Amino acid sequence: MTKKIIVAIDGLSSCGKSTMARQLAEAVGYAYIDTGAMYRAVTLYALRHGLLTPDGQIDAPALEQRLGNIDIAFRVSPETGRSETYLNGENVESAIRGMEVSAQVSRISSLPFVRRALVAQQQAMGREKGLVMDGRDIGTVVFPAAELKIFVTASDEVRAQRRVDELRAKGTDVSLEEVLRNVRERDRLDMERAESPLRRADDAIELDNTHLTIPEQRALLLRLFRQAAEG
Ligand code: C5P
Repeated sequence: MTKKIIVAIDGLSSCGKSTMARQLAEAVGYAYIDTGAMYRAVTLYALRHGLLTPDGQIDAPALEQRLGNIDIAFRVSPETGRSETYLNGENVESAIRGMEVSAQVSRISSLPFVRRALVAQQQAMGREKGLVMDGRDIGTVVFPAAELKIFVTASDEVRAQRRVDELRAKGTDVSLEEVLRNVRERDRLDMERAESPLRRADDAIELDNTHLTIPEQRALLLRLFRQAAEG
């Protein structure tokens, strides 16, 4: 008997979690939620409204007060067929992926009131199960009882190169050094923060994909999914 489950995919920055999570969700007909996009959307809102300066000064009381004005939604784009991120009705999928947001998002995501609000939304999305969610704290905090938990890692250099390729494919020119610095800095901030730090849940399966191709990774994930859903 196949049951509906929750798949929690956590791991380091830029290690292909979203690709894995999206492909698995498509293959098994589940919803896919990219929680990093939610923290990125709050960061973009804060930058645009002067609540966060490009050098990292945050007006936390003002941001907390305005959190109720930030509506984040995911809608499937008719052009790409993919789920894209909307901030107060505007498609911000490309704006949230740029270096300006990447450079600040780990500061915003360390604020306890931001995490509380977004975690509550994420838990509501999983009430019916049948969901693949990726992030940093899905298996530890958002869904500690998820039936399948994966913790993804890859070498720093491979992760930075993948992110550079992704940004360049979208027409953004960035240097490998800048992206490598950002990936390492985000991992450090995400692992060292007091509130829900990035760590592997004790019952998560660790997957180092440095040397795996995307089809190999996809096949492995499907096998793990079937074991968890049919077990
Ligand atoms: O997954 P992505 O790299 O887009 O996430 C951006 C940032 O959002 C991470 O570096 C982290 O600071 C934060 N994040 C988080 N908890 C999550 C997902 C993302 O703190 N569940």
